[in-house]
Amino acid sequence: MLKDPEDGRRIEYRDGKLMVPKNPVIPFIVGDGIGVDVTPATVKVLDEVAEKIGREIVWFEIYAGEKAYKIFGSYLPEETIDAIRRYRVALKGPLTTPVGGGYRSLNVAIRQMLDLYACVRPVYYIRGVPSPLRNPEKVNLVIFRENTEDVYAGIEWKSGSEECLKVIEFLRREFGIEIRRDSGVGLKPISEFATKRIVRMAIRYAIENNRKSVTIVHKGNIMKFTEGAFREWGYEVALEEFGDYIVTEGQEESNKIVIKDRIADNMFQQLLTRPSEYDVIVTSNLNGDYLSDMAAGLVGGLGIAPSSNIGDGMGVFEPVHGTAPKYAGKNKVNPTAMILSGALMFEFLGWREGSEIIRKAVEMTIDQRIVTYDIHRHVGGKLVGTMEFADAVIENIHSI
Ligand code: NAP
Repeated sequence: MLKDPEDGRRIEYRDGKLMVPKNPVIPFIVGDGIGVDVTPATVKVLDEVAEKIGREIVWFEIYAGEKAYKIFGSYLPEETIDAIRRYRVALKGPLTTPVGGGYRSLNVAIRQMLDLYACVRPVYYIRGVPSPLRNPEKVNLVIFRENTEDVYAGIEWKSGSEECLKVIEFLRREFGIEIRRDSGVGLKPISEFATKRIVRMAIRYAIENNRKSVTIVHKGNIMKFTEGAFREWGYEVALEEFGDYIVTEGQEESNKIVIKDRIADNMFQQLLTRPSEYDVIVTSNLNGDYLSDMAAGLVGGLGIAPSSNIGDGMGVFEPVHGTAPKYAGKNKVNPTAMILSGALMFEFLGWREGSEIIRKAVEMTIDQRIVTYDIHRHVGGKLVGTMEFADAVIENIHSI
């Protein structure tokens, strides 16, 4: 039922490289709730920047969530996944996870179906955004969170179910492990393959972007063969594959990236007390889930936090926030998180200049104190709606 656009060309992936035409077709999902506010605002900004750098995006609407259910009778039609696979890149608004829709989470399903194994979130301070830190400008991180394993693999059994009792009985019989019979049971797989590929991605990023350190975050003191193995495999990749670029902590050399590790609970307090010591962070799924929202909170919260889900030659770009249903359709919320997700998308396409322009224009706008309600309630300024904020960003784009 989806009809591909007649204009525009496909992004290709050959020999490990993205080949991006000047006029790529880029699928987008509006999303549920405030998706109807932030997605059009973002598209407008990205079109403007693309034009400024001599490119054109041919947008292709694809569907997921409530809109997809209305049109296709499915929250996540196969055609949507196929379109992202075909065009390699997509911009995505937030999605409600339907209760009883057959998916744990649409977002998780998209990541797993497309093997988008890394959730990558830059976290840095934008001047003028309220922060709980005294020196929020010291926060400048990029967090790589493994997307496909750990507790998000979704392998668990309900307490009292036949399957769960079988698992409990198997563990008792084969390994002498006693688990209370009324327990629910979950599995936490962490593989060498998935660990090494995400650590590899994080280190490559650090090298290409002149970052100073890569920190492996884990809970290996308690879970030795999952979290602890994540740490071991992480060091293995760093030292065996990137030996020319990497040194371990205590062996610092100028121009080399330091690889270090921290236990997750310690990492939380260190990010609060000594954020400038951290740069690129790579971690397993659940640690990354908590850590990246906490880090976003340090620099002003969900309204401004962008994210990307990256696989080999494929990426889906989306704001960190959800659908905030109480604000849906009110032209009220902050589109910054999604606009900055667009900046990540431009970077992924190799349009670095465009990505810089987007970031700069957003920073200029907030610095001019043109802000949506979420920032306004803390610091005042000129209160504007979602689309008016995007228009102010566009005006700044013209002045860059
Ligand atoms: P949420 O939608 O992110 O909203 C929580 C609060 O964060 C909002 O009430 C609002 O705070 C603030 N907020 C979020 N986006 C904002 C924006 N653009 N501008 C300004 N403030 C913003 O989280 P939730 O209420 O926990 O989740 C709602 C639904 O979204 C759930 O169905 C969940 O599954 C889904 N979700 C989807 C994704 C995704 O698609 N990637 C991610 C997370 C959650 P105030 O009320 O203080 O103004």
